[in-house]
Amino acid sequence: GDYSQKIDYVFKVVLIGDSAVGKTQLLARFSRNEFSFDSKATIGVEFQTKTLIIDNKTVKSQIWDTAGQERYRAVTSAYYRGAVGAMLVYDMTKRQSFDHMVRWLEELRGHADSSIIVMLIGNKSDLASLRAVPMEDAEEFAQRENLFFMETSALESTNVETCFLTILTEIYRIH
Ligand code: GDP
Ligand code: MG
Repeated sequence: GDYSQKIDYVFKVVLIGDSAVGKTQLLARFSRNEFSFDSKATIGVEFQTKTLIIDNKTVKSQIWDTAGQERYRAVTSAYYRGAVGAMLVYDMTKRQSFDHMVRWLEELRGHADSSIIVMLIGNKSDLASLRAVPMEDAEEFAQRENLFFMETSALESTNVETCFLTILTEIYRIH
């Protein structure tokens, strides 16, 4: 890329949700176009950046990933500090990970700025035959809580670019 280009905006976006829903692989797919079935390989990374052009402006996204802190209330307030966007990720083959979205949203709203843009993400859409969360349930929750919503597959690369671009464009729009 052209590293002499000036950065117009830096947006911090945090990934939250239960362990094993695919947060790290969504980020790996978005930032490096990679995917791994072995999660251990990517543990410990704080955040990844990716620079995009939105509306002729250079937007640097800084996407934060939890490193095994997914236990309830274990994510610290430093993680949320300064975040202008959040992606609430569940595994669409694991009902419990969707049911926990209520908690994650509550925790997010307790820490983050009220203007934060939030996107609900049902990941692993490639495992369609194992679906445990009807799309209507997620849509209803998203509508009620004023969240964007998308289903993704980090494995097949479905909607990954789109969901990050959507949230970043929306963040750009209000900043
Ligand atoms: P995290 O704990 O939320 O960060 O989850 P990971 O990104 O580490 O993923 C947990 C497991 O789910 C790993 O074995 C991944 O390879 C797998 N995984 C992640 N995303 C997908 C996906 O879109 N489809 C499928 N089939 N597996 C996925
Ligand atoms: Mg992870």
